Amino acid sequence: MLSYRHGFHAGNHADVLKHWVVCLISDYMGQKDKPYWYIDTHAASGGYSLSSADAQKTGESDTGIKKLWKQDTPEVLHGYLSQVKRFNTSGDLEAYPGSPWFAHQYMREQDKARFFELHPQDFASLKQIFGKDKAIKVAKEDGLAGLKALLPPPTKRAFTVIDPPYELPKEYDEIPKVIEASYKRFSTGVYMIWYPLINRNSKQKSSERMVEKLKRLKVSSAMDIRLWVSGDNEESGMYGSGLYVINPPWTLKEQLEKGLPYLVKCLGQPAGAGYKVEVVAG
Ligand code: SAM
Repeated sequence: MLSYRHGFHAGNHADVLKHWVVCLISDYMGQKDKPYWYIDTHAASGGYSLSSADAQKTGESDTGIKKLWKQDTPEVLHGYLSQVKRFNTSGDLEAYPGSPWFAHQYMREQDKARFFELHPQDFASLKQIFGKDKAIKVAKEDGLAGLKALLPPPTKRAFTVIDPPYELPKEYDEIPKVIEASYKRFSTGVYMIWYPLINRNSKQKSSERMVEKLKRLKVSSAMDIRLWVSGDNEESGMYGSGLYVINPPWTLKEQLEKGLPYLVKCLGQPAGAGYKVEVVAG
């Protein structure tokens, strides 16, 4: 089943959190000369028009990037916002990039990337954007199986983003298993798992159960990051999102503490919005 299309959701509050952190971690990875690999197990299409029928139908970017775009933000958000501006060459916010595009902006000559995407249209779009770049391989394969096969990468440094659609309940069970196996093969890599905060009965419980399983894995360091833009009442759908990061850069917590209060104020509704940064291990 591949009914999920990220074009409906591009630039929403969850994308802002996820892509800001992708930028922070990619920037950190580039601070050492030694090459690294960026692995995106669920890459989607790489870029989205905000005026497409899909984007207009949900208007989700109204709750995310459109609120931030023109603001005088704390410095810690400047890197992320400058990438969104670079993607919009006209100077107006007409389009929004995806995780592979953000990560690619930070790659140097010595770095490599692997993108996985199963949807034929999104895969074709990725191929079109990145297909000619010799440092990047785009595969129309299952990203979770593909990840295991890549580890450990030859450079012994990697940043992996796992961002599934969670269309199938089994994805919540698979991810802790894949992370456990990946960590056994390559314990020094940085792994970032995205998950939704949805107050709709079983789905929310599935997210919480998955995070509990991730927390039980024995890893050297991990951090649970959450941003919610409204209260978790019945009507609000996805009211926030979380990122579980294994082996986060030591700089990340301080950066998050500088930017998250601002994101709560800028993206959140006056009542109910908030954030959490929990150091789980390390
Ligand atoms: N990471 C992207 C970003 O931030 O711009 C968004 C990814 S979107 C939430 C999830 C994507 O995963 C969808 O495009 C979907 O087609 C793709 N997908 C679903 N199952 C997959 C699998 N097993 N392997 C690779 N891609 C998959």
